[in-house]
Amino acid sequence: MKAIVNKELCEGCSICVDVCPDVYELDDNDQAYVKVDPIPDDIEAECRDAADQCPTQAIEIEEA
Ligand code: SF4
Repeated sequence: MKAIVNKELCEGCSICVDVCPDVYELDDNDQAYVKVDPIPDDIEAECRDAADQCPTQAIEIEEA
């Protein structure tokens, strides 16, 4: 599984970072990015949860 952040939609609210800090981090411009690829099995659920909670639906999940 892979997670992709659409930077045009990301508003830097950091919800994804709070929900799943093992996958998401904010860059110097306060935009989220994905720091692991592929997503390890044991954090897939958290990673999806973060995508679901993103208020602008900026996170796309690609199944492997
Ligand atoms: Fe950006 Fe969505 Fe993460 Fe908020 S939850 S920082 S809008 S990707």
